[in-house]
Amino acid sequence: MSVIFHPLRVRAIEADTDEAVVVSFDVPEPLRDVFGFTQGQYLTLRTNIDGQDLRRSYSICAGVDDGELRVGVRKVRGGVFSNWINAHLKPGDEISVMAPQGRFFVPIDAAAHRHHVGIAGGSGITPILSIMKTVLAREPHSRFTLIYGNRSLKSTMFKEEIEDLKNRYLTRLALHHVFSDEHTDAPLNMGLMNRDKIGEFLRSVVPADDIAHAYICGPYQMNDEAEAALLAAGVPDERIHIERFGVAQTDGAQVGAVIHEA
Ligand SMILES: Cc1cc2nc3c(=O)[nH]c(=O)nc-3n(C[C@H](O)[C@H](O)[C@H](O)COP(=O)(O)OP(=O)(O)OC[C@H]3O[C@@H](n4cnc5c(N)ncnc54)[C@H](O)[C@@H]3O)c2cc1C
Repeated sequence: MSVIFHPLRVRAIEADTDEAVVVSFDVPEPLRDVFGFTQGQYLTLRTNIDGQDLRRSYSICAGVDDGELRVGVRKVRGGVFSNWINAHLKPGDEISVMAPQGRFFVPIDAAAHRHHVGIAGGSGITPILSIMKTVLAREPHSRFTLIYGNRSLKSTMFKEEIEDLKNRYLTRLALHHVFSDEHTDAPLNMGLMNRDKIGEFLRSVVPADDIAHAYICGPYQMNDEAEAALLAAGVPDERIHIERFGVAQTDGAQVGAVIHEA
């Protein structure tokens, strides 16, 4: 595996909610192949903060046909890199970036008629947005359902972009928000993204026997609970794909973006 870092110029930084920014990069012509990516992959960024050489991974949050290389970075309480990006990185700055990596994807099959399901919590939407956009663009007969947990609509990353996608793919994209801190009319759309909640979806609006592939990315515990719910509903293990942003710790705390409650 190549560990070469390339300097990339920051093209733009846009706020997305009060807690996150979307960083897009200019990719010069000679590096276009190096930074070609598959949906669901991530970039490793490297910089020096207060004399420390630090590296962190961020999932690419663009579809493969968007002509964009960008990541969404959510502030983590006490987190060095994520807060530095949110507070200090500016358009025009250069930052070291490694070529895309990761295996959180299923190869596209343009002829397939499949139902893909994304289960995302908080900043875990980033790789799932990339997969969702790519599947909808490149598998014209497939459908995508997103179950997306956040504290409230205000803290939901990419809400406008996802809404636009829903309008564009009216019959092929279904979206279900789940808010932990905001009242909604439907009880299904309120509460924590735990095994019971995801099980409720699988017994009602997202029937488990119809799922070709399920992609999970969110807080550590949500990942485990979503996986358990899918397995209990009969979705085979090999159809369940999980991207883990953080490392679970014995005391129940976590390292990484997932500390930030979805
Ligand atoms: C494949 C992958 C993709 C990712 N994609 C994204 C993404 O798209 N968007 C995103 O926002 N994040 C993503 N992450 C998470 C990201 O890489 C960083 O982990 C995150 O931004 C936090 O980094 P930080 O430097 O801000 O926090 P750190 O400074 O590393 O610390 C994080 C938190 O953990 C605590 N902590 C640190 N070390 C310890 C320790 N040893 N013991 C106890 N507590 C500790 C700190 O106090 C802090 O609260 C991804 C991670 C992976 C592995």
